[in-house]
Amino acid sequence: MLKRLFQVPLSTTHLPPGSSASSHSPTNFPQPIKAADKQRLIKLSDPQDKVCVSDWSCSQHFTSSAPMASSETLQVEQLKQHIRQQQQLRQVECKLRQTLNFSTIAGTAVVETAGIFNAKQVTLVRYDRATQSCQQVVRYCQNQRLAWQPACNISETEFPALLHQLWQGKMLRILPGQLETSSSVLTANDAQTQATVDSDVDNVLESSASESSVSESGVPEHEIQQWLARWPGSWLLIPIKKSPSVQPTQSSLTEHHPIDDDRSTEAEAFDSWGFMALALPKRESWTDTAASVAHSITVTFTAAIQHAQQYHELTVANQELQKLALSDGLTCLANRRRFDEHLTDEWQRLAREKQPLSLILCDLDHFKRYNDTFGHPAGDRCLIRVARALLSGPQRPADLVARYGGEEFAIVLPNTDTHGAWRIAQKIHESIRALQIKHAPDNEESYVTVTMGVSTVIPGHDNTAQMLVQASDLALYHAKQQGRNRTYVNGHYNTVSEDQVMGKQTEGPNQLDVMPVEAGE
Ligand code: GH3
Ligand code: MG
Ligand code: MG
Repeated sequence: MLKRLFQVPLSTTHLPPGSSASSHSPTNFPQPIKAADKQRLIKLSDPQDKVCVSDWSCSQHFTSSAPMASSETLQVEQLKQHIRQQQQLRQVECKLRQTLNFSTIAGTAVVETAGIFNAKQVTLVRYDRATQSCQQVVRYCQNQRLAWQPACNISETEFPALLHQLWQGKMLRILPGQLETSSSVLTANDAQTQATVDSDVDNVLESSASESSVSESGVPEHEIQQWLARWPGSWLLIPIKKSPSVQPTQSSLTEHHPIDDDRSTEAEAFDSWGFMALALPKRESWTDTAASVAHSITVTFTAAIQHAQQYHELTVANQELQKLALSDGLTCLANRRRFDEHLTDEWQRLAREKQPLSLILCDLDHFKRYNDTFGHPAGDRCLIRVARALLSGPQRPADLVARYGGEEFAIVLPNTDTHGAWRIAQKIHESIRALQIKHAPDNEESYVTVTMGVSTVIPGHDNTAQMLVQASDLALYHAKQQGRNRTYVNGHYNTVSEDQVMGKQTEGPNQLDVMPVEAGE
């Protein structure tokens, strides 16, 4: 057998390398640093080593075959290496915690991980339950920029056993054949030793098989060969699982927060977010210590994306709440509160710009009679249809159609003069006439209509938005007095000087000069 795949015990803690054996010894498992060792380390290590962490790489230290001068030197080297490794881990953790943006977290994770291990490639792969396949989220290759497009698709039909092992929570090493007998190959004895050292280990580490078609890791040889044929290198695959405490919701699902929403009690796969794949050059190998460090990074990464997801969910929920607080439950138009806010905002803006602001108040004609005839639920449906028709009038982004109250609506038209507002009112009349909502069962010609009052003003310090509302209300009142199904324009706004008045001028203050316009004219 030329190629091998090994399971690596998962460890959530980072222990320093053993004090007596080589770091790449098959029987060497992390041991805690003793106080005496720490003392010695302080004495023996070069102070520069503590800060010069970026020069360090696991591939150099974990896989080096250079003979050590003595066991003491080796021990010191191992302790120094452990400290550097912890420093690097802390740095990565800090960086991952600095943002709540998924893309930044994912990008940081692959770049930093590649830096720590001097890996030739680090890829974050996400499991997609719908297609039962895994797709690259982001990949970082040495001397290359980040690649976000899904470059590879790892399907469950192609690598069923390999993915199954990952979803079982097992960390896997895929090593090229020439490393079969390297010192990093783990044996059954290693497993027993590790089990006594690390109580978090939940995987049984299996020995390498001789010529069996299925390795002890449970992954058949042909899958391993297929993997290496497609992606040459010395691989470490670390599963990334969602924390059981996090219950993602539908609203949290966006491209930038790609965490599965589906939960299942029947298979571990549904708890799997995906995995991180790290590649060293073919001639190098993954040691237990390196695997443990890489696993730690994925733990931090998982926590970071879960925080990001929670933050995103909270933001979406807040936006939803805000939307609900500002919209009308029946018609889904802006409600009175939103209308007040928008009118005030636009008033202030247009006061600065000295531009006109128009307001249309729109009232359904004889709506009480409609309710009495057809019933309240039919009245509600009628209000909804009229609301939609009103939206067909104004078109600009700053325009706002709101339910003012009951069967009355308000349309705010910034940067719109009297004639512009009047044209919009005519469009609304046409839209409502086109609905042909019968108003009287025994009269074929009787349809639901509206009456509108329009006023326009250039906002200033000597008038208020409330006065504009009163002016439109007054125009509506006068329109109704003249009959229904019509629009009246208040050509005078009594708090505005005559040269500011848009539309037809009036004869004097407090006089309402209306410009009667029959609907449809
Ligand atoms: P006018 O032509 O003078 O405006 O007469 P009107 O009947 O439309 O006006 P009035 O103020 O007398 O009555 C308004 C009616 O609108 C009474 C009320 O039942 C109805 N209304 C207000 N809000 C709603 C609602 O949310 N749903 C329904 N179905 N009817 C509503
Ligand atoms: Mg009314
Ligand atoms: Mg009415």
